[in-house]
Amino acid sequence: MAIFSRPISLLLAATALAGLCAGAPAQPTGTLPPSAPAWSGESGGSGHPQMTSEAIRAAAANFRGCLESLWPMAARRHITRATFDASIAGLTPDLRIMDLLDSQPEFTKSFWDYLDTLVSDARIAKGREMLEKHRVTFEAVERAYGVDRHIIAAIWGVETSYGAIGGDRPVLRSTGTLACVGRRQDYFREEFLATLEILQRGDVRPDHLVGSWAGAFGATQFMPTAFKRYAVDFDGDRRRDIVDSVPDLLASTANKLKTNGWVSGLSWGYEVVVPVTFNFMLADRGRDHTIAEWERLGIHRAGNKPFPRAQDQAYLLIPAGVQGPGFLMLQNFRAIMKYNPSEAYALAIGHLADRLRGGEPFVQDWPRYERVLSRAERLELQQLLVRRGYDLGEPDGQLGGKTRAAIRDFQSKLGYVADGFASASILEQLRGR
Ligand code: CA
Repeated sequence: MAIFSRPISLLLAATALAGLCAGAPAQPTGTLPPSAPAWSGESGGSGHPQMTSEAIRAAAANFRGCLESLWPMAARRHITRATFDASIAGLTPDLRIMDLLDSQPEFTKSFWDYLDTLVSDARIAKGREMLEKHRVTFEAVERAYGVDRHIIAAIWGVETSYGAIGGDRPVLRSTGTLACVGRRQDYFREEFLATLEILQRGDVRPDHLVGSWAGAFGATQFMPTAFKRYAVDFDGDRRRDIVDSVPDLLASTANKLKTNGWVSGLSWGYEVVVPVTFNFMLADRGRDHTIAEWERLGIHRAGNKPFPRAQDQAYLLIPAGVQGPGFLMLQNFRAIMKYNPSEAYALAIGHLADRLRGGEPFVQDWPRYERVLSRAERLELQQLLVRRGYDLGEPDGQLGGKTRAAIRDFQSKLGYVADGFASASILEQLRGR
């Protein structure tokens, strides 16, 4: 997964999640006050040749030459020389971003702490207030795009607390820096050029085009290239202004979900109860079955509710092992994951949407007594599994499908329930035997 395949939301960044699921974001916070620290002057932790302090200094010294070299590409996108010159005049690199680009948090949150943070009572209350305040707009957007208004509100709430925190770094400077300095220049060159296009078209006020250090902006944190693909003018002023127009913002978010496969009138998924004797190997994002088939395998809906539609395809997610809740995930869950390829993120969005609609908290408890492994411990766990002959690829501290499968096999040899959950006690077992 490309780390920057989507904007890194400020809240997600601030609550970086342990590698409990593939694709969990683990990036540091994006936005700092004007008094923010300067670049550390140190090489990045990735070890990438473009992230050494010498390479960063050399690239920064050539910043103007690099920006100038982008002019032919800008011209092909119908950016005028006047816009180009005005945009890059006085632009300096923001090298603090290099520290953020390579930062890896040592301690991270559990799946449940992450959900608690994002689906808080305050965020639920504020979301209901915003749904009421913008009721007419939400109704019109829901009609036009067929996307559940509560999902749109939940993304708004999780990304920026309904616009309260959106970042204050100029997008042009951030994307310009990343296009010319550091290890992701190819990716960010596109973002920088897309930013110039936004300025050329006049969609967003230049002084309001501010956001996260990676260049995500607006209250639902679009990257500039995502803006190009998905932003729409919904208030009819011919500008696609996802910063200052709530109708444009909500409709653009709905358009992105619809384009990514949102199915009207359906839920994202269901909380389910998984029997202890269940074959946990079936809990895999690559294994879709109908709800009826899952029921035959012993899965039932939490709270003794019936499933409304037996023929929908779903996959089973068991994020915290046999001691925590399970979830059957429908097509719309995958559409949310296109917004951010993290199951924890998408589950937070789906659950917050349900709560905004008046739904109840999850029925089953999380294994809150489980301690979350630090990055060093996750690496050690993977190394110990490799030493036992499991093929995990290169240990990276991210607990993906291969690690889960190895843990399941190890658990079954011990006679434990083979749920693949990387607990502290499993690490102890691996160390001691
Ligand atoms: Ca507009």
